[in-house]
Amino acid sequence: MVHISDSGVCPCCGSKLALNILSAKGREEFRQKLLTLAKTASPDGRSEAQDFVSFLQDQPKFTVAIDAANVGHNSQNFWGGGFSVEQIDMVAQAVKQAGGRPLIVLPKMYTRHLVPYNSKSQKERSASRESNEFENRIKRRWKYEGILFTPTDSGMDDDWYWLYFTVAYDDLDNPVYVITNDEARDHGARHLSKRDFYRWREGCIIRYQFGTPLVNPSRPKHRILRPPCLTVTAPRAYTREFQHSKSDRTLTWHIPIVESLEQGQDVDSGAPWLCMHLVTKS
Ligand SMILES: [Zn+2]
Repeated sequence: MVHISDSGVCPCCGSKLALNILSAKGREEFRQKLLTLAKTASPDGRSEAQDFVSFLQDQPKFTVAIDAANVGHNSQNFWGGGFSVEQIDMVAQAVKQAGGRPLIVLPKMYTRHLVPYNSKSQKERSASRESNEFENRIKRRWKYEGILFTPTDSGMDDDWYWLYFTVAYDDLDNPVYVITNDEARDHGARHLSKRDFYRWREGCIIRYQFGTPLVNPSRPKHRILRPPCLTVTAPRAYTREFQHSKSDRTLTWHIPIVESLEQGQDVDSGAPWLCMHLVTKS
């Protein structure tokens, strides 16, 4: 048994495992399924999906979509927590600093003056709060930079937009990514085969974690005085699935001991593999 390095190199034979992403055909099929899904949604949703397709075609290419509802709520379930515009901006700035062009997909309900308030406090949980000037300035800057898309509450699932984004461009040499902690099982798994779903998800989803959640600046008494800390986990450099290669007279098989989607669980990068060699006679 071996443990493959982060860069995909087998310590037993020195082979580099391949990254198998969703094929061009698979991408096209997924794209068509998503467009069909949009057509069967509400009429508003359909037109808005078309708006999004046009928006992507008209704008300079985005490289990373941000599932902003997911990011804004992350780690905010504490007293004084709530939907955080600042967390989304922190992720967007990290994308820019890495040389990327972020696309913030944020449901319109979070851009209004009264923002839904999610908090550990039972009293606050179903309430709204006023968006403050600090947050409004951030949102105006996103609009000015042309990096904000705001689906309305038309019945279309807002996840649809970042799902579509992952297969919107045909340039496979310059893949795009989405930052979310959503497992995408409800969506991707329904429309893709098990293998294609895994290849799609592992190839485009970037996970993230806030070591310290950001607290709304209008609530200074709850502010945590530690500096915010964002960690992102890039997609794996290789695909965790059976791989084989041949050189001279040697066949090499790399077999993951546990499949990534087995029992519906993600498998840790450190999970072992079998490295097997077969020397042929001719
Ligand atoms: Zn090996």
